[in-house]
Amino acid sequence: MLDQSELIRYNRQLKIPDFGEEGQRKLKDSHAIIIGMGGLGCASATYLTAAGVGHITIVDSDTVELSDLNRQILYWHEDIGEKKVTVAQKKLSKLNPLVQITPLFTKVTEENVLSIIDGAQVVVDGLDNSATRLVVNSACIKQKIPYIYGGVSRLRGMLTTIIPGQTPCLACFHPEGAGGLGVLGVTPAIIANLQALEAIKLLIGHSPALAGKLLLFNGDDMKFQVHEIRRNESCPVCSPTLPR
Ligand SMILES: [Zn+2]
Repeated sequence: MLDQSELIRYNRQLKIPDFGEEGQRKLKDSHAIIIGMGGLGCASATYLTAAGVGHITIVDSDTVELSDLNRQILYWHEDIGEKKVTVAQKKLSKLNPLVQITPLFTKVTEENVLSIIDGAQVVVDGLDNSATRLVVNSACIKQKIPYIYGGVSRLRGMLTTIIPGQTPCLACFHPEGAGGLGVLGVTPAIIANLQALEAIKLLIGHSPALAGKLLLFNGDDMKFQVHEIRRNESCPVCSPTLPR
């Protein structure tokens, strides 16, 4: 049941056909995990919190630095030196006290990834390196948890929704990580908000639009392109789980 304050808080989205109170209740009963609370994670966490996802776990092992502030919008000048997950938890809880925010100050490794994602309905990528992404990808395939990949560089970004047992996985196509090339703050915001939209649709039982498809955004010419992703038939991560 939604109480009076929830009916008011979520009024604008409750009016959307096929969303309604049932969709809102599903969101409220959901647990999403955001791994990496940088530019991508700050934006997806903000919108998933505002939308009313009941429980959000945020995972990061960094502290706030001055050079983060051009894009990691949950962190302000006064937060420099603080743990990102602690700052994010405080601000997200102020945005929407109805959402349970669990901060995890840890690096994701092969050893801890399964326990971190356990019990989640969706994992949202906020990472900045492909090694950790592949660790998360494998764990999500193993635990059958949808994984929404997002990556950015300069004015470009991409995302896809990986549904274990149905779509290709990240190890099938290895998106090239382009770290160190710089990034404009709006780029992760654009990609992360599309990730949040995919996550919300998944959580309320709608079909994610980017299952098996890679969306490419190019901010230089404002073009969005969507390509089918081919499955690698001999992918060591997902091929045993996919129908032939
Ligand atoms: Zn694969």
